[in-house]
Amino acid sequence: MKKLLFGLFILLTVATIVIFGFVPSYVGKDMNRTINPPPYSASETAKELHARLLVADLHADTLMWNRDLLEKGSWGHVDLPRLQAGNVAVQAFTVVTKTPRNMNIEANTGDTDNITLLAFAERWPLAALTNLTERALYQASRLHEAAARSNGKLVVLQTKDDVTKFLQRRQSEKDVVAGFLGIEGAHALSGKLENFDRLFDAGFRMIGMAHFFDNEMAGSAHGAAKGGLTEEGKKLVERMQERDVFIDLAHASAKTIDDVLDMARKPVFVSHTGVKGTCDNNRNLSDDQLKRIALTGGVVGIGFWDTATCGTDAKAIAKAIRYTVNLIGVDHVALGSDYDGAITAPFDTTGVVQITDALLQEGFSEAEIKKIMGENIIRTLQFFLP
Ligand SMILES: [Zn+2]
Repeated sequence: MKKLLFGLFILLTVATIVIFGFVPSYVGKDMNRTINPPPYSASETAKELHARLLVADLHADTLMWNRDLLEKGSWGHVDLPRLQAGNVAVQAFTVVTKTPRNMNIEANTGDTDNITLLAFAERWPLAALTNLTERALYQASRLHEAAARSNGKLVVLQTKDDVTKFLQRRQSEKDVVAGFLGIEGAHALSGKLENFDRLFDAGFRMIGMAHFFDNEMAGSAHGAAKGGLTEEGKKLVERMQERDVFIDLAHASAKTIDDVLDMARKPVFVSHTGVKGTCDNNRNLSDDQLKRIALTGGVVGIGFWDTATCGTDAKAIAKAIRYTVNLIGVDHVALGSDYDGAITAPFDTTGVVQITDALLQEGFSEAEIKKIMGENIIRTLQFFLP
């Protein structure tokens, strides 16, 4: 009996170490790969220009993983030291609260959920194990907590005033980085519009209407029914526009995109996407959608992964950017990496200089590259945040 209990104890200890110690980092490392390891080469012209840019990126899911944002990680794509090394000034930190098993870009339901297991393995607070709003709030707290420990090197943008102050500091302090909070999918409201205020108070300033499945507010491009905005969804869009929270149309169904654009009085973001013009699949935007998004004054973040660009390098990203700029103008195109979002990227954030290089090779001028690499995002935040 004693032997049996001791055996059981050993088994439990080993299981605990495996589940809490190795599983989160193993899963994170496996899901967020980089094709080429650093350091990243670029032409001297590109390096010189890149050092003078204000670089911004509309999408990274970093907060879902158990890594210290202030430490240089050995896996994944984004943390403060790597943002500094890549000369990235502004990073959107988007939170993921529920993803279906066997996730695909064609059709999924919300019946299963991978994040419960991740939340358990990463020892998220009890409330965040089951409640989607709590999962978003917990991930937001990770960003605020890292900012508080950063000796002022990481700041969180919530107002236009924050942006102005940040830009002033950044003129003399090149290692100050700003983050702002977004959400992948309005299911993070747990079906209740009143949760919007809690998310706003936690600092969220961008909300994607849907992620990989249809939710109570809106249809997803990868959902089962792929419908449009529901009545609750329309109320949410109104509320977001009242409070100056950006609508993110990434992952939204065609019907949801149309419904939101019918109501849009402010610029919308598409935080991470590809365009059908260079990579034709169900995840990417059509020419007509791109044109309507630009009419709101919106900004489209071009993704770095293979089904966004139909390629695996900076050249493919620059090609998608070229196509989109030719179609809707240089003021509406930006970077939307999807770093740490369960993708394989050509390089981590220390390698974004390779995009500057590829944009030069595409024949973009210095003024155009400045806009694409960051100014379009930063200008929009500075004008339209609360
Ligand atoms: Zn996404």
